[in-house]
Amino acid sequence: MTNGLHMIVMDPKQTMHLGVGRGSGFSAETRKYVPGSAVRGALSAAWWRAHPSASQADFDSLIATISCSDAVVSWDAGVSGPSLQWTAGAAALDRKICKLCKPNDPGVPIEGLPWDATECRVCRGPLEPSKGNRVLPRGAEVLSATRVELNEREQAKDDHLYEREGLNTGSRALVALAAGRVKELAKTGQVLRIGAATSVAGRLAIADVVPYAPPSLAISPGKSRLRVEMLTPGVFVDEFGCAVNRPTTHDLRWSFQLPETAGITVERAFTRWTTSSGWHTMANRPKPEDIAVVAHSCFYVRVEVDEPITVPTIVHDLGIRTGEGCGWASLSTLLESADA
Ligand SMILES: [Zn+2]
Repeated sequence: MTNGLHMIVMDPKQTMHLGVGRGSGFSAETRKYVPGSAVRGALSAAWWRAHPSASQADFDSLIATISCSDAVVSWDAGVSGPSLQWTAGAAALDRKICKLCKPNDPGVPIEGLPWDATECRVCRGPLEPSKGNRVLPRGAEVLSATRVELNEREQAKDDHLYEREGLNTGSRALVALAAGRVKELAKTGQVLRIGAATSVAGRLAIADVVPYAPPSLAISPGKSRLRVEMLTPGVFVDEFGCAVNRPTTHDLRWSFQLPETAGITVERAFTRWTTSSGWHTMANRPKPEDIAVVAHSCFYVRVEVDEPITVPTIVHDLGIRTGEGCGWASLSTLLESADA
């Protein structure tokens, strides 16, 4: 259920190292966004710095209400202004993308092409199903830094070459959606540290915390076909607790506030598997891992209601592990034409 959504706008001051969690080899890749659990963790750390004598119970009651989406690089220039939006920069898994064009080439729709499209509108090249990978807007980039390990004579050791990638957002903001008592946790001007190597990287400042009120969707009596797109990974389990690749009827009913009498059927699912985990900084240990479907997975859902209803178009609690940033999803009417 959705109320009290906010958009947290952050102004990165340094490169960020957002590890992909594949252990410590000689090469460290970075994500192109900040996972929601890392945003929430950084806000928590800042809260403790500002309230050093607070009780654990105060913190627990506050943080239990908070869920943050991934923080994505804004496609709008600058770090303030009414135009800033949360835009993931990914084509959903029910869309196709060109095999030849780069996703942020001029004229290439970042949201991809409809499933039944047959060729690229820009180069007439062949298409392939989208994998939901996020693309950075122009001006933001992944940088790679190489360094060596020195021996006691300060010469480079053979075979001890390390590479670390970093996300540089240029002059663009990072934007996260957040639910719960956000105003008590995130304050304008607050400094956060996110990712690895935080003595030299990952510093950013909160530029703004603005209320975010997505429109609701009116559903007429009778049958409707809806499209649900995961905005962050989704963790779903069946009645026995086994991982499944789609939300249950109960998950959908609860999150989108559908009436008890509504008929709900997931007709199609466009998904890929991933795992959802993270690092608990205070405990300095990895969080438990769950099987998840990737962000931008899609579900086509048939809903049948007796009376007109309105439902939210953005939710933050579809499935489980929602405190960790899983389960943000958008809802729209399913468009079936090739021009969708
Ligand atoms: Zn193309």
